[in-house]
Amino acid sequence: MAQGLLLVISGPSGVGKGTICKALRERNHEIVYSISATTRLPRPGEVDGVSYYFLSPQEFLEALEKGDFLEWAQVYGNYYGTPAWFVEEQLAVGRNVILEIDMQGAMKVKQTYPHGVFIFVLPPSQEELARRLIGRCTDAKDVIAKRLAAWKEEMKTIDNYDYAVVNDEVELAVKKIEAIIEAERCRVARRNRD
Ligand code: 5GP
Repeated sequence: MAQGLLLVISGPSGVGKGTICKALRERNHEIVYSISATTRLPRPGEVDGVSYYFLSPQEFLEALEKGDFLEWAQVYGNYYGTPAWFVEEQLAVGRNVILEIDMQGAMKVKQTYPHGVFIFVLPPSQEELARRLIGRCTDAKDVIAKRLAAWKEEMKTIDNYDYAVVNDEVELAVKKIEAIIEAERCRVARRNRD
């Protein structure tokens, strides 16, 4: 059986990665989403085991020591990590797996999965990014400021990605990523590998 594709999606906080990933999964049933572990507190409406596995710092460090994570990173003062078992299991049965993770984590994944597809989602402009971050009303003012300040640095990592997708409209961004998936499936090199 051919291995699934590993899709790694990064981009600045507030750019709409979560909405894009949700739409991708709803429209493509062979795509599964890897639920990360985090020490961040749940936002209103977030559910443990669905949005994230919400762990205490102690629980996170124990999992880290056991080698449970494919990658992990400290992002905006909290720990985040991708459970390795889920990714391995799903790719092996031919499903396409999405990781929605930050740039540090993405580069660690590249070391283990050099054939992954690395996609960077961009806002149409810095002003629009600020508007979206403030508009979602889920973070405190200082958290929003930290996330906005980070984005210029984050943009510098874009050269490490295979594709850049501007999220001006969710529907369009999703269509572009679906096109990327189709193209990647047709790659001769991938056929020869699988
Ligand atoms: P948020 O707190 O807004 O849910 O996520 C903050 C940042 O952490 C986002 O850039 C998100 O992509 C990233 N993130 C979420 N899960 C993981 C993970 O498992 N590993 C890494 N490295 N970053 C993650």
